[in-house]
Amino acid sequence: MNRILLASAFLLVSISAAFADGIPSAVPTAVSPAPKAPAPKLVEPHLHIARSNIAGHARIALTFDACMGQADERILSTLVRERIPATIFVTARWLKRNPEALGVFLQNPDLFELENHGQNHIPAVDTPTLIYGIASAGSRQAVRQEVEGGAAAMVAAGIPAPHWFRGSTAKYDLSAIGEIRAMGYRIAGYSVNGDGGSLLGAVITEKRIASAKDGDVVISHVNQPTHAAGEGVAKALVDLKAKGTEFVRLEDVEDTGDDKTTE
Ligand SMILES: [Zn+2]
Repeated sequence: MNRILLASAFLLVSISAAFADGIPSAVPTAVSPAPKAPAPKLVEPHLHIARSNIAGHARIALTFDACMGQADERILSTLVRERIPATIFVTARWLKRNPEALGVFLQNPDLFELENHGQNHIPAVDTPTLIYGIASAGSRQAVRQEVEGGAAAMVAAGIPAPHWFRGSTAKYDLSAIGEIRAMGYRIAGYSVNGDGGSLLGAVITEKRIASAKDGDVVISHVNQPTHAAGEGVAKALVDLKAKGTEFVRLEDVEDTGDDKTTE
């Protein structure tokens, strides 16, 4: 028994030593001393809106992120043609590159509510970490800059001051949520992931969005015109309208978000 334990202990020491020497360095972090700051606990909050409770007239809030890149005309033209209201989260980066789409939003204030998706599309997490490979803001000041920079660019572009914020990746740590709430924002989670970050196929995207229920908040993207997902989004809009859906914007209704994002 003792011999086995000793042998195991010796083996562990040997492995540790080998890693410490840097010989087999495939997973060096696994045995290096624990880092001072553990990975922050991240949340991806849900958001629901007040239901219509009218059969055949589900109330749904469509939200679209304009992260960076271009405008998806397939979605934009469908929203305008079908007169479907939506809430669009824009970054300062996207606004700068898409003045024509901004013009469409501003010409249709009855359809589009524009809200804050940040300045540079940096996750609103106030400790350093990577989310889907994107470096977080990493400090309180950087989170504040991301939020304030986004809002300043919106106002400079002629958009009314935003009241909602949704950070890049829609993930936060709880202290960043507290900070952003203290800046006066509600934080926009969602309840239906419509397009999987714009990476899903057209058919599955259409199916996901068209199956939204009374009180759901759908998230999808309006900045990836070359992705198949956008085709599915545009089709789903028509499907939902045909089903008698009541489309609302976040500013039009009562809402409930978890992780202290709206209360
Ligand atoms: Zn985004």
